[in-house]
Amino acid sequence: MPTTERVTYAWCFVHASLHVFAQASTPWCTAAWAALDAADREAALTEKQTRFGAARFFDELPREQQLALRHMEPDKHHPHE
Ligand SMILES: [Zn+2]
Repeated sequence: MPTTERVTYAWCFVHASLHVFAQASTPWCTAAWAALDAADREAALTEKQTRFGAARFFDELPREQQLALRHMEPDKHHPHE
């Protein structure tokens, strides 16, 4: 454990990689990522596997999961959609 900084782990389906966000600041990635309920990197990857299987990119997700992720994109949020 290097620090006690609180972080959020998230899988990003645009960059196809695990992101780590400091909870104290705004996430640096505004693409389609899903926050993972995990305390460390290993748990985050396990959680990602459980929820999204082998999908790494947005296009590999089922449609309903794509829609759920779109709502998390602040840049693409359209209130009248
Ligand atoms: Zn990203």
